[in-house]
Amino acid sequence: MDRVILIIEDEQQINEILTIQLAKEGYKTISAFDGIQGLEMALTENPDLILLDVMLPGMDGWEVCKKIRDQSGVPIIMLTAREDEVDKILGLELGADDYITKPYSARELTARIKANLRRSALDIPVSVKNDDVNTIISGDLTINVERYEVSKNGNVIDITLREFELLKFLAMQPEKIFSREKLLENVWGYEYYGDVRTVDVTVRRLREKIEDDPSMPRYIITKRGVGYYFNK
Ligand code: CA
Repeated sequence: MDRVILIIEDEQQINEILTIQLAKEGYKTISAFDGIQGLEMALTENPDLILLDVMLPGMDGWEVCKKIRDQSGVPIIMLTAREDEVDKILGLELGADDYITKPYSARELTARIKANLRRSALDIPVSVKNDDVNTIISGDLTINVERYEVSKNGNVIDITLREFELLKFLAMQPEKIFSREKLLENVWGYEYYGDVRTVDVTVRRLREKIEDDPSMPRYIITKRGVGYYFNK
């Protein structure tokens, strides 16, 4: 079963290089060259992953990302050219799963794609050791591991796959403190790449969704200078 990757990139040459690189890795690709076309293909062609450039004619990558996320949980990797764009990806509630800064190596690109495809494939991630644990209940929170669903007081919470994976990882090993690096490795699947700020941003988003008061978290606790843990 070939994985299909949608490349939304207006620079013809970069789009072609990506197509060639990904073909070598065994992926099928489809290409869009502006934001509007990209959005349309994202929602109609059902790709397994999207590479999304930030600066695009028609509709920029930020807008495209938000609009895709409104309707789909497909993994999105943003392609950025500048550090200030990275800050924006990390700081905004766009719902992008990851980013790559140009110029990037083929090896880095492949690593990122693999990590993001893996977690979306409904493969049970490395963190799950106990097959009997289908539901984790803590306080007013219920985490259904099999259905990728989190509810608070019986109401299902709108949560991205990455947020879910992070919550599940922490909740399955309550009270155990994990460093940001460990979380990146286990939840994001990076061995060599990645920015620990990604972890902080995802924790912040998660808290806004599951905590009564995100500034006084009940579930995901910061251990200063060390990392995070789930308080059961
Ligand atoms: Ca561009």
